[in-house]
Amino acid sequence: MSRSSHAVVLGGGLAGTLAAHALARHAGSVTVLERDVLPEGPGHRRGVPQARHAHLLWSNGARVIDALLPGTTDRLLAAGARRIGFQGDQVTLTVRGWQHRFEPTQFAVLCTRPLLDWIVRDQVLRTGRLHLRQGAEAVALRAGGGRITGVRVREADGRETDVDADLVVDATGRASGLRHWLADLDVRPPDKDVVDAGIGYATRLFAAPPGATGAFPAVNVGAPHDPDEPAHFGVVYPVEDDRWIVTLSCTRGGTLPAHEDDFEAFARARLGHPLVADLIGSVEPLTPVFHSRSGANRRLYPERHDGWPDGLLVVGDSLTAFNPVYGHGMSAAARCAAALDRELAAGADTRRIQEAIGAAVDDPWILAASKDAGYAGCRIDATDPRLVGEHTAQQMRFADAIIDKSLVAPEVCATVTGVISLSAGQAELGSSRFLSLMHREGSLPKLSGPPLRPEELDLVRLPAYRRVPSA
Ligand SMILES: Cc1cc2nc3c(=O)[nH]c(=O)nc-3n(C[C@H](O)[C@H](O)[C@H](O)COP(=O)(O)OP(=O)(O)OC[C@H]3O[C@@H](n4cnc5c(N)ncnc54)[C@H](O)[C@@H]3O)c2cc1C
Repeated sequence: MSRSSHAVVLGGGLAGTLAAHALARHAGSVTVLERDVLPEGPGHRRGVPQARHAHLLWSNGARVIDALLPGTTDRLLAAGARRIGFQGDQVTLTVRGWQHRFEPTQFAVLCTRPLLDWIVRDQVLRTGRLHLRQGAEAVALRAGGGRITGVRVREADGRETDVDADLVVDATGRASGLRHWLADLDVRPPDKDVVDAGIGYATRLFAAPPGATGAFPAVNVGAPHDPDEPAHFGVVYPVEDDRWIVTLSCTRGGTLPAHEDDFEAFARARLGHPLVADLIGSVEPLTPVFHSRSGANRRLYPERHDGWPDGLLVVGDSLTAFNPVYGHGMSAAARCAAALDRELAAGADTRRIQEAIGAAVDDPWILAASKDAGYAGCRIDATDPRLVGEHTAQQMRFADAIIDKSLVAPEVCATVTGVISLSAGQAELGSSRFLSLMHREGSLPKLSGPPLRPEELDLVRLPAYRRVPSA
């Protein structure tokens, strides 16, 4: 981009904020158009309803954000976020059994979404390199000469104005109007894949017992997987201000607690172990139950479009939205911004930049979509051959074998955790090194209960699982 060019980012969520920061290193000026009026500090807002629910930022996403905005993770930790080492600081019941707590090789940052968004936004705005227009809703794209030339904006008072741009980046999230905006310009919408396991979330915040958010592990409990039945999951994550955020989730056909009174009973009845219910049974709830049904995997392919207009890019959830259970959306948003930065530095054109952004989201896409395709009632409307090809049943059996081994074998677990945290490529699971590790590495006995230490149980006043019998 030339130093006199103007870039406009639609949406001031995480993807838009990070993309704008990357653009500001290359463009003459950058404007972010955000429909909401943003809070002056950590706070909820209409445009990011998922912020009520548990969010985990994987190590790859944290590293990418730190590379773009040095010191971000340190600020989050200083504000009360917890750095969880995987698989040492989390107790996990996967659909195939309990995970041993091996020496951590990766990590995740846990805090509420409002805190994370606020610190990232503040880091970006402090640079003073971009202009944020709040209460400004993008309603249409403008085009001329085969390229995008700007955006039509509706202000909070209903007035509409035009903003000229040399480059427009759509970061308006899952509900992006991009397909309609393109149709209005007589541009065919990009190809779309959808893999929808019907994910539902129900979340509450609780006051954690004193000291628990710093020293008790994160908890993630699934239920044994029956391919013909809906799946249920529950997490207890430590967040800032000595609170636990507790999210219960299910796939299509599953139920979620509708009311406050059902929350604990639901966790006890539906999950594969009472740990989540026991943890919340004696602590004070701080919020009502919030629900979300925004969990489909959905990917657009602008990079395949032969008539894609010059000067238009798509990032974040607008481009690829994931089942949130895997915790990949924020890391994918960061990877989009890093790809944008790299390609602009190399002088790439719109098509090449969008290809690089598509490549950056491919690993999280296939990890989430291929796993979800195995859930009962999952709706698949996709052309990705990895999801609809004849080898999918075989791939799922291999994926199950990998999970089985990683529960009990530390080196296999380290590789799998590297891939899940997006720190290593998904191709690593097909490498000869990994395949020989799968056969070679010895295994510990399978666990038959949560691997909690006596001092951890004392902290949360749970005597019940003090002895962990081995199978
Ligand atoms: C229930 C749930 C739990 C999740 N948990 C995790 C997790 O654990 N880990 C993880 O990494 N990810 C998680 N995600 C995904 C994560 O929330 C998203 O990937 C992330 O917020 C992507 O951000 P975004 O900026 O692309 O979109 P959004 O966060 O949706 O932001 C879009 C922004 O655009 C603005 N906007 C919308 N329309 C317009 C318009 N026309 N004009 C101007 N502005 C507009 C909105 O106000 C908003 O600010 C979860 C998602 C859900 C639904």
